[in-house]
Amino acid sequence: MRTWAEIDLAALRRNLGVVRRAIGPGREIMAVVKADAYGHGLANVAGALSGLVSSFGVANPGEARVVAGQAPGDIFLLGPVLPQERDSLASPRLVVAISTLAEAEALNALGFPVRAHLCVDTGMGRMGCLPEEARALGLAVSAMPNLRLEGVCTHFPSADEDAGFTRHQIAGLRGVLEGLPPAAGAVHLSNSAGILEYMEDQPFASLVRPGLMLYGLCPTGAHQGELEPVLSLRSRLTLVRLLPAGHGVSYGGTHVTNRPTLVATVGIGYADGYPRQVSNRGAQVLLQGRRCPVLGRVTMDQIMVDVSDLPVRPEPGDVVTLIGREGGERILASEVADWAGTISWEILTGLTSRVARVCREG
Ligand SMILES: *Cc1c(COP(=O)(O)O)cnc(C)c1O
Repeated sequence: MRTWAEIDLAALRRNLGVVRRAIGPGREIMAVVKADAYGHGLANVAGALSGLVSSFGVANPGEARVVAGQAPGDIFLLGPVLPQERDSLASPRLVVAISTLAEAEALNALGFPVRAHLCVDTGMGRMGCLPEEARALGLAVSAMPNLRLEGVCTHFPSADEDAGFTRHQIAGLRGVLEGLPPAAGAVHLSNSAGILEYMEDQPFASLVRPGLMLYGLCPTGAHQGELEPVLSLRSRLTLVRLLPAGHGVSYGGTHVTNRPTLVATVGIGYADGYPRQVSNRGAQVLLQGRRCPVLGRVTMDQIMVDVSDLPVRPEPGDVVTLIGREGGERILASEVADWAGTISWEILTGLTSRVARVCREG
């Protein structure tokens, strides 16, 4: 293989154990597996978590179908359902989030039972009803013959950076719950950052929705030591050449060698999801357990790295680690994200279908 992602399913299950310890007894877990399980491969991840979580969170009905074939449990659609997608809700395992009365009426008119959670916008601004609208919408949904109101939820936009705002959101949802009938069902607020930092503030939460931390990355870095990255991204050297001092490397000639440089070409590029934005930003890869700098711009299918300082001259075919552990060194997806000026979530979900996913059980 030229470029592949190793998926450590045992690490995934150990990270689930970290979630379980963080939330304490008596609460359930919805594994967030949208976007092909954050690029890790949806079928394999859902299969590995089968029977270990009460539900799965997906982005659309297509992802829901993949999960349904792999694992039991409820499947929660994290985003609004399109009018064109509503027929797929006939599956009794699907659960939708309702934001508006118009949505509720359309779902009720489908003619079959639809399971729903009331989504409350406590500050995310993406979906949900406003807190002051929640009681009326909740009562309306409860009165609709085909809708089953089974939960209430909200989402944190800033749990990894703004404690005051997040606590305000939690208080807002608590206020909403006080106005709703107690039979409103599951109550869920927390993404990974909420789980790691705010469980004590929400004793009324019965369910959590971890994404990133299941895949072994901490949103803030503060708890990284408790988590194990599940995905390693590897490729191979295709060529090793000695370039003289003063030679340009890659498009635009943005890097020029300042000494005779042993340059290795690697069979990965931005078409695999290795972000072009890391170009000339200090990005590194691992070879022989050491960090080697990426030189110049990332191209579509290839990158160049400086291997001059390795103890042993590398050969074409040698394995390169772009994310993951090699020897005593490790590169986290969050480090690649920093080089690229983005977030771990985008690095993981940006890996393309050209990258083979190879599962192991640890
Ligand atoms: C993606 C998503 C999550 C998971 O977020 P992480 O930060 O990856 O844990 C939870 N809830 C909702 C509504 C989401 O869209």
